[in-house]
Amino acid sequence: MKFFKKSEDTEQAAKIEDLGRMIDAAGMPPDVKKIAEQELETLSRISPSSAEYTIGITYIDYLVGMPWNKKTEDNLDISRAEKILNKEHYGLHKIKERILEHLSVKVLRAARKPHILVVDDEEIARKNLTHILAKENYEVATASNGEEALKELGSSEFDVVITDLKMPGIDGMEILEKIKTKNPDTKVIMITGYATVPSAVEAMQKGAFNYISKPFKLDEVRTTMKNALEKKMQMRSARGSVLCFAGPPGTGKTSMGRAIATALGRKFVRISLGGMKDEAEIRGHRRTYVGAKPGRIIEEIRRVESANPVIMLDEIDKIGQDFKGDPASALLEVLDPEQNHSFVDHYLDVPFDLSSVMFIVTANVIHNIPSPLRDRMEVIEFSGYTQEEKTRIAMQFLIPKQIKEKGLYEHQPSFTEEAVYKIIQEYTHEAGIRNLERKIASICRKIARELVQHGKGLEPVEITPKAVERYLGRRKYHFEVIEEGNRVGVTTSLVLTEAGGDIIFVEAVKMKGKKGLILTGSMGDVMRESAQTALSYIRSNAGSLGIPEDFFEHYDIHIHIPAGSIQKDGPSAGLAIVTALVSLMTGQPAIRGIAMTGEITLTGRILPVGGIKEKILAARRARVKAIIIPAKNSMDLEELSDDIKMDIDVHPVDNINEAIDLVISK
Ligand code: ADP
Repeated sequence: MKFFKKSEDTEQAAKIEDLGRMIDAAGMPPDVKKIAEQELETLSRISPSSAEYTIGITYIDYLVGMPWNKKTEDNLDISRAEKILNKEHYGLHKIKERILEHLSVKVLRAARKPHILVVDDEEIARKNLTHILAKENYEVATASNGEEALKELGSSEFDVVITDLKMPGIDGMEILEKIKTKNPDTKVIMITGYATVPSAVEAMQKGAFNYISKPFKLDEVRTTMKNALEKKMQMRSARGSVLCFAGPPGTGKTSMGRAIATALGRKFVRISLGGMKDEAEIRGHRRTYVGAKPGRIIEEIRRVESANPVIMLDEIDKIGQDFKGDPASALLEVLDPEQNHSFVDHYLDVPFDLSSVMFIVTANVIHNIPSPLRDRMEVIEFSGYTQEEKTRIAMQFLIPKQIKEKGLYEHQPSFTEEAVYKIIQEYTHEAGIRNLERKIASICRKIARELVQHGKGLEPVEITPKAVERYLGRRKYHFEVIEEGNRVGVTTSLVLTEAGGDIIFVEAVKMKGKKGLILTGSMGDVMRESAQTALSYIRSNAGSLGIPEDFFEHYDIHIHIPAGSIQKDGPSAGLAIVTALVSLMTGQPAIRGIAMTGEITLTGRILPVGGIKEKILAARRARVKAIIIPAKNSMDLEELSDDIKMDIDVHPVDNINEAIDLVISK
C-alpha cells in the first residue's frame, strides 16, 4: 500500500537502497544483519513523512555506523609499553609493574596454541580428526574411550573437546556433564552418527557447543572448531581484563589509563559514572520516540570507530542510591566476560560484542563498590604523593606541560624548587596533584597575559616564592595543628576520606546537665557509635582514669567534629574521641601535635584501621611530627618506603591507656 507522492517515492527508494548497501558493507554478524534487513524492508513500506519512518532510518543509520568488525591491532611489545608508561609518569614503580604484568599475561594468552582433545573409540575417526586439526596448527591430544578422556582432562587444560557421543562405558554425554561442572569454560563438540542426532540435540541443551555428524565433512569440522575456539578465546582474553584503579583524586589514574591505550595502540574513552542518575545512560533508551539514544558505552564505541578501545569507567564507587534502575547489574552486564560478549543496549536492540574492550574502572574508595562487581576486578591501588614526589612531578612533568599548553615556549618561566614547595604547602591541600597542576596553570596563564598585554617578561620570568604570592595571592592553607596550642578536650585525628587521608579535630565540651551525650558535625553513623563506645569505656573506668565518680551525674557532654567539605565516617576516629573525652573530664590539655588513628573497643583495646599510608601522608602535609597508630598496623609500616616515614615519630599502641599516657600532658 503506497500513499505518498511520486517524488517522495523515488527519494525513499534511493535512501532505502543506500542503506541496504551500507548494511552489506557494515560487517555485521549474520543475525544482526538479518534484523537490519527486516527493519529496512518494513521501512520501505511506510510513509517517509511518518514518525516511525524517521525513527527507523535513524536507527538503521546508527546500526550500520557501529564498528562491528573494526578493531585496532594490539601492539604487544612490552618493552615499548614500559617506555611509554615511564615517559609520562614519575615513580609509581609498583603500579607500572602490575600493569606490565597484566599486559604480559595478555601477550602469552594471545600466543598460546589452542589445545584440543579428540575422543573417539574408532581409531580411523581419531586419526582423521587429528590429521585435519593438526593441519590447522592446533595442539591435539587423543583418547580412545571415556576413562582416558577424563584422565587427560584431569591433567591438562583444553580449549575444545571433540567427543563421540556413543561409546561403551563412559559416553560422550557423561564427559560433557563432567566438563560442564569441572571446566565450564571448555567448549564441547559432539560427534554423532546418523542414529544419534536426537541425543546430540539433548547434548546441546546440556551445554554442548555444537555437533558434527559422521562421516565428517572437512569444512564442517574446520568451521565448527573455529567457531568454538573463537567463543572460547573471547572468554579467555576477557577474563580478569577489568582493572580497577583505586585511590584519591589526582594521583594519575586517568593518565595511566591513557598511557595503557597508547602503549597498546588502542583508542581511549573515558566515561564518568559519577554524575549518572539513570540506568539508561549505561544501557540506552528504547527507540520508541524520536530522540531516543543509546547508552554511553555504545555511543563512545561508535564514536571512536573501534570495537576494542580501552574504556575507562570513572568513579564507579559514586553511582549510588539515588540512581534510577539497577546500576550494578547493568555494569555487571558490561564488565562480566560471561555476559558482555552479547551486551544488549536498549536502543541498539541487538547484541554487541564488548568482549574485546579493555575496561579499566576507577574508584576513590574500593569498599564502596558493590561486591559482585568488585569480585571481577583486579584492584591496583594508587596512593597520595609525598611533598618531595609532588615537587619532582611538578618540575619534571606538570610545569613543562603547562608551559607548552599556555604557549610560553619563547619566554619559558623557570620555577624554583622553593616556589613549587610553597605552592604545595600553602596553596593546595590534597593527596594527589590536581590542584597543584591548576595553580601552576594559573601562574602560566597570568604570565601569558602579562606578556601579551604589557610586553613584559621579555626577560624570562623566574618564579620564586615571592612571585608565587604575587601571582596566587595570599596563602590558602594554614597549619592548624602546629600553629595553635594544646587545649583541654581537643585532640587531633587522622581519618581516611574519599580524597585521601586527612586531619580532623575532635572537640569535646561539658555543660550542666545529666548524663546526656550530644553529637554534632560531620559524623557518619559508625563514628557516632565510636563516641558512644568511648563514653561507656570512660564511665566504666572512671576511677582508674582519675575522673570524679559523680562527674556524669552533673554534666552533659557535647562532641563535635568540625565539618569539612567531605562527610567523615568510619571507626578510626575512636581513639581521638576517647582521648578528647579523658582530657575534658580530667581537665588536662591534650597534645595537639600528636595525631592519632585507631578503632576502640568497650574493653579498651585498639583495633587496626585502614589507610595507614594515606594517613601518614596527611600528617606530613599538616607538618605533624608524631602519630599514634594501632600496634596491629605496624606491619603496614614496614611496607612503606623510607621517604614516607621520614622525620615522623610513629607510636604503635595496643590499648587506650598507652595512648592516654602519650597524649594527655600531665
Ligand atoms: P586521577 O585520574 O587519579 O584523578 P589524573 O590522571 O587526572 O588523576 O592526574 C592528574 C594530573 O597529574 C594529570 O595531569 C597527570 O598527568 C598528572 N600526574 C599524576 N601522577 C603523575 C605522575 N606520577 N607523574 C607525572 N604526572 C602525573
